[in-house]
Amino acid sequence: MTEPHHRTVSLLARADAAADEDGRLPLPDVAAWDIFPFEGEILVRRLEAPVLPEPPRHGEGGDPCGTCAAGESRAIWADERWKLVPLEEASMPIVLLEPMAHLDLAELDDAQAAELGVLAVRVERALTALGGVGRVHVMKVGDGSSHLHVWFFARPEGLLQLRGSSLSDWSDCLPPMPQDEWLAVQHELAVGLAQTGGRALR
Ligand SMILES: [Zn+2]
Repeated sequence: MTEPHHRTVSLLARADAAADEDGRLPLPDVAAWDIFPFEGEILVRRLEAPVLPEPPRHGEGGDPCGTCAAGESRAIWADERWKLVPLEEASMPIVLLEPMAHLDLAELDDAQAAELGVLAVRVERALTALGGVGRVHVMKVGDGSSHLHVWFFARPEGLLQLRGSSLSDWSDCLPPMPQDEWLAVQHELAVGLAQTGGRALR
């Protein structure tokens, strides 16, 4: 059995000391901010014990990688080493930038890391050019799949409650675009991005 790191041990001790008799931490300040999507009686979940070693993610530990298996089939744009993949259903334009090869962020060589920086800027510009976009949020998490996927969210212009770090939660609350509207947006985005390189696939 793997022991947790000393910083994790002290974090758990601090959380335990700050929790009420029900084992729950007080709500954070963000719960009172106007960008927080939820209201009413809300509780902070009780913190569970660490799981070590952590379980494998999708695409590692012998689990086949869906991103590799999909190739370009779900992509709306691609070049030699990257592809842009839309969510199948999305309340606002949301796309994922993924390397063709099975690599996580730290596994990119310097050349492909530099390409990622340039591509992130190009994708943000192409999303902004769709119109009606107040801000593009860019996010890398990676706890689900081991195949690098960088998220791009196009926040609807003027919807100030959707600003900041609550946007991904809001995007799950809001109903998806009709499929024909989303497909038209994907086409416009793919053609726009291909103007500065790569191939539009939709
Ligand atoms: Zn993969």
